Amino acid sequence: MRCPKCGGQDDKVIDSRSSKEGATIRRRRECLSCEHRFTTYEQIEQEPLMVVKRDGRREAFSKEKLISSLQRACQKRPVSEDDLASAVERIQDGLAGSFDRETTSGAIGERVMRELRKLDPVAYVRFASIYRNFEEATDFVSEVERLGHLPIDDKRQLELIEESEAAARGRRSQ
Ligand SMILES: [Zn+2]
Repeated sequence: MRCPKCGGQDDKVIDSRSSKEGATIRRRRECLSCEHRFTTYEQIEQEPLMVVKRDGRREAFSKEKLISSLQRACQKRPVSEDDLASAVERIQDGLAGSFDRETTSGAIGERVMRELRKLDPVAYVRFASIYRNFEEATDFVSEVERLGHLPIDDKRQLELIEESEAAARGRRSQ
């Protein structure tokens, strides 16, 4: 490290401690020429997580994209920003475990569905309708019925069918 005061190239480390749960190491250094003390930080260079899409193309994971697709699914639904934010955190934490820094759009989709299923059945079906590309409204209903822990009454079923039909219309007009 070049001394910021005199430009000398040699220094010694006089203190070294890790911070942020070990993600960063802070080193206190002293210039051997002028004894000026300065601090450097060392951290792991994170390679971007790559997402392999269904058509085989790869692109860098985008948190913004993830957030906007969740927001789209939850539009006008009783889901708070806080709930959405923590769902995004959990999805991201799960993906961070991929050792090779690579995942698939399918793996992300499954995680999103798992989170939406807990948050709101309509948001879940909206997302699933686009993600799984369901064609028939009945598919949505059976998908919803598969959610054993969610009581789906007649009114809600109607709501879901309307949602899915609206989603299908949206797809056709695209
Ligand atoms: Zn110096």
